[in-house]
Amino acid sequence: MTKKRAIIIGSGYAGIALANILGKAGYKVDVYEKNEAVGGRLSAFSQDGFSFDIGPSWYLMPEVFEQYYRLFNASAKDRLDIQRLSPGYKVFFENEAPIIIEGSLKEDARTFESIERGAGKMLRQYVSRSSFIYKLSTERFLYTNFTNIFKLIDWSIIKKAPHLLYMALETLDRYVSKSFTDQRLKQILEYHMVFLGSSPFQAPAIYSLMSHLDFKSGVYYPKRGMMSLVSDLVELGKPYDITYHTDSPIKRIVVEGGKAVGVKLHSSKVERADIVISNADLHHTETSLLSPSHRSFPKRYWQKRQAGPSNVLISLGVKGKLPQLLHHNLYFVDEWRENFRDIYETMAIPEHASIYLCNPTKSDRSLAPAGHENLFILVPIPSGVSLTDRALASLTSRTIATVAHIIDAPNLPERIVSRRVFGPNDFKSRYNAWEYNAFGGQSHLLQQSVIFRTPNESKKVKGLYYVGAGTVPGIGLPMCLMSAHLTYKRIAGIKDEGPLTDIEELR
Ligand SMILES: Cc1cc2nc3c(=O)[nH]c(=O)nc-3n(C[C@H](O)[C@H](O)[C@H](O)COP(=O)(O)OP(=O)(O)OC[C@H]3O[C@@H](n4cnc5c(N)ncnc54)[C@H](O)[C@@H]3O)c2cc1C
Repeated sequence: MTKKRAIIIGSGYAGIALANILGKAGYKVDVYEKNEAVGGRLSAFSQDGFSFDIGPSWYLMPEVFEQYYRLFNASAKDRLDIQRLSPGYKVFFENEAPIIIEGSLKEDARTFESIERGAGKMLRQYVSRSSFIYKLSTERFLYTNFTNIFKLIDWSIIKKAPHLLYMALETLDRYVSKSFTDQRLKQILEYHMVFLGSSPFQAPAIYSLMSHLDFKSGVYYPKRGMMSLVSDLVELGKPYDITYHTDSPIKRIVVEGGKAVGVKLHSSKVERADIVISNADLHHTETSLLSPSHRSFPKRYWQKRQAGPSNVLISLGVKGKLPQLLHHNLYFVDEWRENFRDIYETMAIPEHASIYLCNPTKSDRSLAPAGHENLFILVPIPSGVSLTDRALASLTSRTIATVAHIIDAPNLPERIVSRRVFGPNDFKSRYNAWEYNAFGGQSHLLQQSVIFRTPNESKKVKGLYYVGAGTVPGIGLPMCLMSAHLTYKRIAGIKDEGPLTDIEELR
């Protein structure tokens, strides 16, 4: 019997994850990737003896990775040598002493209490509510395609409906402000929204579930570095009939009689398949790879959606030690609200921005030559803004000066022996990113979350599916794995809620 054939456009984390599932289900899978290497935004480069990540650095929600690996009778923890980081991260402020988040509710409640009277108890209550929402979301809402809404709503949900409605309609910032007054504590409970591509002043309070990860679940790191996630995922699919074609940008999705029948390469060669799945940014897929009559989400649809932010990523090789930093570090400006307003409302490049500083050599010495540190700075900036080389250079030197100031290392600029900057234009040219967005698609506003997020199936073209951060459930590596479950369920017509527990051969 001839095998069914699937083509996946793009080899991001979600694309590879789905390739494995389809491979195990008996498909012959061909993955076409425009770039020279697989992994998409999970990417790194080597320079001057340093190895710099220019993508994800936080390994969160470990149980989601386990859930996926179990489908292949494997353990992510064992294969990737996952270690919990303790402490979790350090936060620098403009005018106050840094705070270390241990990732232990007992110790972190003590820290909160030392800053604001009663905040320790409040943190325990807050995290307990976050854990409840986290559990509910992972059990009921994140692994579903919402094909049968009535199946989702049972008595346990109805009982909680008023609370859930409140959490959906309240903004995260207003919700946090009900329990905490000190701006530093509020920032620690709100910053995650940056990594979900949103603002705490716009995103729903439901995303308070992220605090469950900080204070209960923990922050992890794969011993062999973030790129081992890509190589291991590809390795996991080795027993199956999966072929990766790098340097192979897709020009068009070929549609015949209302059905996707293959893809056209830039050489104009057509590769045929039974189903086509795009892992590329959905805006690119819909508006560049399909002809107007085949677009379910045409240009006017995207005009009403909010893209996640873009980023400037500054990779620095630094001579000597950086004892002031932990592996993960955040710096929050006093003008917190204004900073988010710049990024999500006025779309202005912030003069002075909150930033994320990753110093992975704290956990992995192999990422820098002896006697040096590897530093990666992420500056969130608005989507839709292309930066000139001059503007990029100016933002870079401003940011390095800020870092030198906050870690009290005035000679930092002179200690830099290697440097590379990855800006918004790079996101566009490297990933075909919509509006230069960094994280893979639209932000997590309420109207772009769960049931309202762009679905993983074309409404106009049969046999055309989507997978990745742009569709359900959303941004981030764990969500990409969930997305692979969801797209496969869509393809296989599985209507059950919850994650896949097994993959049967499709006939
Ligand atoms: C700087 C940064 C930091 C991040 N930090 C974290 C973190 O700490 N933790 C976390 O969990 N997540 C993090 N994320 C988010 C996470 O990396 C993304 O959500 C995720 O990698 C998206 O994966 P994906 O599979 O959806 O798509 P992508 O990784 O975008 O892959 C899509 C692929 O499609 C390819 N493609 C596009 N057009 C075509 C075409 N026409 N033909 C062929 N191929 C095409 C692209 O080249 C790309 O390889 C971060 C992202 C960035 C950029």
